[in-house]
Amino acid sequence: MHSYTAEPLSRFDIRKIVKAFRELLGVKYESYIDVVTLLDILGKKLKNFSYEVVANNTLPKKVFATTDVQTGKIKIKEHIFNKACDGNGFARYCIAHEIGHYILLVLCGFGLAKADNSIKIPKFRDPEWQAECFAGEFLMGYDAVKNYSVNELVTKCCVTKKAAIYQYNMFRK
Ligand SMILES: [Zn+2]
Repeated sequence: MHSYTAEPLSRFDIRKIVKAFRELLGVKYESYIDVVTLLDILGKKLKNFSYEVVANNTLPKKVFATTDVQTGKIKIKEHIFNKACDGNGFARYCIAHEIGHYILLVLCGFGLAKADNSIKIPKFRDPEWQAECFAGEFLMGYDAVKNYSVNELVTKCCVTKKAAIYQYNMFRK
């Protein structure tokens, strides 16, 4: 989606959306979010959401998962899905990233527009930055874990150390 620009959303905007989403799911104060089970819950609750685990060779090498904003369908490579089931932080983040695309672009309906490739997209208008931001904020919910140490974030939220350090710093901005 690199050639698209999205309606502007700051981290603070995304944190508010995550808060509402977590409340809706009844997990406002949960430090651990089971993203794999959540895929099934969303599939049951929302008409326009679906996901499919696909063979590793059906998506390009560097793509782990995709979200089709027209159909609301998330495709996840089999090895990523399996790793997420085993609690792998990177794979869990990939799935949360795609859920972010779905929530922001499909459910909330923030618009996308074709970008002029000669102009650098500011990060708050970049749908990839927005989905990354969503993933961090969602897996490490502000109300639940804002006072956690980096190590607590890693073990209790089940994220990578890199993601934990990044979010730890974002909580203190
Ligand atoms: Zn993405």
